[in-house]
Amino acid sequence: MKRKIAYLFLILLVVQFIIPLPQASADQVVKITVHAKQYEFVPNKINVKQGDRVKITLIADDVTHGLFIDGYDIKAYDQPKDPEVGIIEFVADKTGNFTFRCPIVCGPMHPFMIGTLVVDPNPTFPIALFLTIGIGMTSLFYVYRRSDELVKNVQAPKEGIDLNKKYPWLEYILNQRWIIYLIFIVNTFFFAIVIFAGFAGTNVGNANFSLIFVWILWWALLIIILLPIGGRLWCTICPIPAPGEWIDRRAFIDKGCEKAPSVAIKGWPKGLKNIWLQNWSFLLVALFSGIILTRPLATSIVLSFFIVLAIITTVIYGKRIFCRYMCPVGGFIGLYSLLAPLGVRVRDKGTCRAHKDKECIVGNEKAYGCPWMETPWTMERNAYCGLCLECFKSCSQKNIALNWQSFGADLLVEKGKKLDEAYKAFIMLTCALAYSVIFQGPWGIFKTWANMSMPGFFIYAGGFLVLNLLIVPLLFALFVWIGKGLAFKDFSKIGHIFTPIVDMLKSTKSMFVPSSAQAEAAATAEKSANPSESFKKLFIDLSYVLVPMGLACWMAFSVSFLFINIVYILHVISDPFGWGWNLFGTKGLEWKPVGTGVYPYIQAFILFFGLIYSNWIGAKIIAKYPLDKGQKFRLLLPITVFLMAITALFLWLYI
Ligand code: SF4
Ligand code: SF4
Repeated sequence: MKRKIAYLFLILLVVQFIIPLPQASADQVVKITVHAKQYEFVPNKINVKQGDRVKITLIADDVTHGLFIDGYDIKAYDQPKDPEVGIIEFVADKTGNFTFRCPIVCGPMHPFMIGTLVVDPNPTFPIALFLTIGIGMTSLFYVYRRSDELVKNVQAPKEGIDLNKKYPWLEYILNQRWIIYLIFIVNTFFFAIVIFAGFAGTNVGNANFSLIFVWILWWALLIIILLPIGGRLWCTICPIPAPGEWIDRRAFIDKGCEKAPSVAIKGWPKGLKNIWLQNWSFLLVALFSGIILTRPLATSIVLSFFIVLAIITTVIYGKRIFCRYMCPVGGFIGLYSLLAPLGVRVRDKGTCRAHKDKECIVGNEKAYGCPWMETPWTMERNAYCGLCLECFKSCSQKNIALNWQSFGADLLVEKGKKLDEAYKAFIMLTCALAYSVIFQGPWGIFKTWANMSMPGFFIYAGGFLVLNLLIVPLLFALFVWIGKGLAFKDFSKIGHIFTPIVDMLKSTKSMFVPSSAQAEAAATAEKSANPSESFKKLFIDLSYVLVPMGLACWMAFSVSFLFINIVYILHVISDPFGWGWNLFGTKGLEWKPVGTGVYPYIQAFILFFGLIYSNWIGAKIIAKYPLDKGQKFRLLLPITVFLMAITALFLWLYI
């Protein structure tokens, strides 16, 4: 079987080389005039044939613009009102889609001023579509054939490697307060530069340390490396909650004494003990990303606001209330950390039961009680453990392990799966799609709206929220309903697809209007009698299939940003504030995107991998359902179609 699948993949991969391509056209000259204006090329799509001699005349309508063609690596510039025009002339000898972009900083949204040169014959997208369908269906059949094995794997107890037992030096590190503090202080130093650069540096985004380090380097490292491997490792050294924690603890390195919070932890409203607030805070940041991602000042204001909020909540409620319930970054780190193999677990739950002192909760002279309000012996997932390492030091029974398990194992843990997390999966996936359209697409109108031009911004904001909160979850619910219908041969009760939306609205309402104990009891009784609950459970379970796909989409999105802007990192290292410094002699390096011929393939590879992995996780998630093989296959089929549609959409935008 394995061999057959390997053959099939091989056929799919080589198919592009055996499709007969039409002959190149005659050596004719194609003349095109492109107008450039903030932040759009008109036309934004140029179609030519392989072998054509192409002459592009660039006319800048408002400010100075340029036109750089990825892959061909040629460019021209033009100034408005200058009788001289920019001209690019070349032979289109490479086929495919080539992004062209403005190489001159022409305003805040400049990095997103994009168009596409299409050189035909261009089989890129049809091949990608063919591969998507092939890979999607092959992986579905594969998990169908291996269904019995999957059930066994899911039922078998999870095993991980106890890293600190295996490596004594790691045990030593985990127990030192100063080592973590050292890493932390270096990170805080860079963070301070980021904030300062935003307030005092140049307002030209590409020349400011704040934007380049936060939204290009940090973001790419977080999404591509830190999160998939280390889960919440970032939270270990995140400087945002630090000032609040220092004030609360009245200590830096050594264990201080936490000041009793004026309002106890119980005081944090019950309706907010979930990640709905984080869902909303992420949406809010995402909504204004056109400003936050392009203005250094806005980035610094937002980061400072988070620090102030973290101080206020820590002083009032104690602990990491901000991180656990409010931080927009923390929300998605928690969700995607379910994929990561690194996490904290207790070695033996029996030891915890027998140990009365519960130092990991109350703390002792060596360390604080868990700042994330977790109880380590009940933790089966990475989602809400901030990897702060306090329990390693506080546990006198040496019962805490830094655990290395298989990738995605936490996605199969039943406990803790809730609608708020499911919605986070939708929000992250939808935002990746929206960002790709707005920032990587050629449509200037979306960029203008995202840049808060009125009244377009209201259309954009409304569309963005509706897409995130209603359309995508509703579409997914429809696919779940179809899957359920196919599995049980019963297509009634389509109204159930609205249940998650209604519950989302109710949860959002309860964030602001706390319900009385009476109303809660009535709601619980109604819930247990409600037949739509089983649909909701299936919907929530299957939503976790979107976690690998969502992360893959973000990784693919981040890859292009990194490749295109990497030279700016070298610029701002030498001149972090745009004050004319040249510390390392790299300030004057010419901007040039790196690897333009390669990164679309990397993006495609990541998306295909996400598609396979999501199908794999889907099969494992439904392995526990008491269904026969055929029913499981039919239940997963529409979800695979949904995932293939998402993959195809991203590929269409990227390649
Ligand atoms: S939750 Fe947010 S603020 Fe808290 S440590 Fe993680 S990233 Fe930092
Ligand atoms: S104390 Fe332990 S369980 Fe709590 S957040 Fe820190 S590492 Fe995780």
